Amino acid sequence: MKKVAINGYGTIGKRVADAVSAQNDLKIIGVSKTKPDFEARMAVEKGYELYISIPEREKLFQEAGIEISGTVDEMLHDADIVVDCTPEGIGAQNLLKYKEIGIKAIFQGGEKHDNVGLSFNSFANYDDSWGKDHVRVVSCNTTGLCRTLKPIHDLCGIKKVRAVMVRRGGDPSQVNKGPINAVVPNPPTVPSHHGPDLKTVMYDVNINTVALLVPTTLMHQHNLMVELENQVEVDDIVETLDKTSRVMLVKAKEGLGSTAEIMEYAKELGRSRNDLFEIPVWQESLNIVDGELYYMQAVHQESDVVPENVDAIRAMLEIEDNAEKSIQKTNKAMGIL
Ligand code: NAD
Repeated sequence: MKKVAINGYGTIGKRVADAVSAQNDLKIIGVSKTKPDFEARMAVEKGYELYISIPEREKLFQEAGIEISGTVDEMLHDADIVVDCTPEGIGAQNLLKYKEIGIKAIFQGGEKHDNVGLSFNSFANYDDSWGKDHVRVVSCNTTGLCRTLKPIHDLCGIKKVRAVMVRRGGDPSQVNKGPINAVVPNPPTVPSHHGPDLKTVMYDVNINTVALLVPTTLMHQHNLMVELENQVEVDDIVETLDKTSRVMLVKAKEGLGSTAEIMEYAKELGRSRNDLFEIPVWQESLNIVDGELYYMQAVHQESDVVPENVDAIRAMLEIEDNAEKSIQKTNKAMGIL
């Protein structure tokens, strides 16, 4: 079993730790925290070895009665690969340390593509990460775009995409984020960075995006307009998305007409943390007008990138050379629909 370390046991890190633990070819050898908070305590209670990112804080962990196994540097020396889930910008600093130690590292979407040099999505460019040392799993929004645009591109070719991205103001636990009572063009400039980010994994796609922040914490929501190369029927798109893994068609008429109801459905699935790894697409929204496909989808920002992190590990450690096989394996272990 290959040994995986998680640097930064927060929103993404704790989910990746559990997803890796569910696989039979990978194991978590440690997770890291900067503070002795409830997440640190629960990591130890779950059985993870806890390492500290700031050695000077050892006493704080002792005072809190939270047992630690050592420092992050010690954790890294024992691992085959580290998944860096630290906040935006810290990963770029950690990259220097990982290079020094000579450990393979995966970064998250908050890091800039140019700092890492290679971005990853399981469906778009798995093979490009084969044996690579440093890879960035694209952001939650970009992963959501890629999951549905890639199979559509494969089916009938995409001439041009325009997308309006309605972004959640903050994650549910982020009490210091907003807006509370506004719709904020963010960025206020057009196009937004999301289009160029998609091109780091779907290299030949022609896309422009605009983005807004709104007062919700549950999910992002995307509105897509896709000019198609070749003529297809709406039913062909429905059939394609229906059989694409990590994508699910949902119906407003079945009571799933909003992100709130979709997250209620995720609770009913009974998964840990109510996660929804799949990208839900509203079936009623799919329509083709004058050769242009329209649809609406949502993204559970806290969890959609998690299975992609598992697949990236398999590609980088040369465990599985077939993307589809890794995707199936990850899906089965995580109970993805
Ligand atoms: P988070 O703040 O929830 O978790 C980050 C964790 O890293 C915390 O446990 C924090 O204590 C720890 N940390 C802080 N500084 C550290 C350091 N110097 N060394 C080691 N650990 C440190 O952040 P998050 O939301 O999980 O985001 C992590 C990355 O994932 C970012 O790049 C972010 O852009 C990306 N991402 C976030 C989301 C999301 O919606 N939350 C979705 C997709 C991608």
